[in-house]
Amino acid sequence: YCRVAGKDFRDHVKEAAEVADYIVAFGACACFGGIPSGKPNPTGAMGLRDFLKEVGVNKPVINLPCCPGHPDHLVITLASVMLGVIPSLDEHGRPLMFFGKNMHNELCPYRPYYDRGIFATKPGEEGCRFKLGCKGPIVHTDCAIRKWNNHVSYCVEVGAPCIGCAEPGFPDKFSPFYKELPGLPTVLGIDATKLGEGLIGATALGIGIHLVRRAIGKGGKEEEKK
Ligand code: SF4
Ligand code: SF4
Repeated sequence: YCRVAGKDFRDHVKEAAEVADYIVAFGACACFGGIPSGKPNPTGAMGLRDFLKEVGVNKPVINLPCCPGHPDHLVITLASVMLGVIPSLDEHGRPLMFFGKNMHNELCPYRPYYDRGIFATKPGEEGCRFKLGCKGPIVHTDCAIRKWNNHVSYCVEVGAPCIGCAEPGFPDKFSPFYKELPGLPTVLGIDATKLGEGLIGATALGIGIHLVRRAIGKGGKEEEKK
């Protein structure tokens, strides 16, 4: 499907891989197949690791997914490899220093909303993006702290859900993008929605107690005046 200088692109890749010490795959497509590998995958698109396995080239591949790949990930990884330091990788070949943490559990600044059961129901609304389809609970990436566009913002911060482009299986495993995950993860074993309702109830009770105290306080002062 792709020819460069009259030659099948797959042959170029195979020949280059055979003489490489390390191979860095950059972007969701190079790592795991990305959008072109989505059903029905008419071109047979696949990630570099799978392709090299298929053509019998056994070389280490460092995967730097995301759509698009993050320039920080590329520059730091290339500099590291050139200095002879090979980053520790997870089971999918991703450097742990970039992809070792779960976005939802460890990095997302919207997590306090989630814990209180406050969910945005349309883009731009205040709250956690879970009900907009955010896949953060099953995604490992540092997008939430590294951010994009010169470290300005990232998908969740501009009101959209995370659609999981850092993970193998993207896009099919994360489709439909704008539908919430079937099971709402729990917070300390309690359903987050119930927790939210509980907190709202507790807040209402707190306000009620405060008002009663104020009323009693006022009554007491009036009694004293009399
Ligand atoms: S569901 Fe998404 S927006 Fe909400 S806390 Fe988790 S990662 Fe953040
Ligand atoms: S926040 Fe999610 S969808 Fe956005 S770039 Fe990161 S992994 Fe991809």
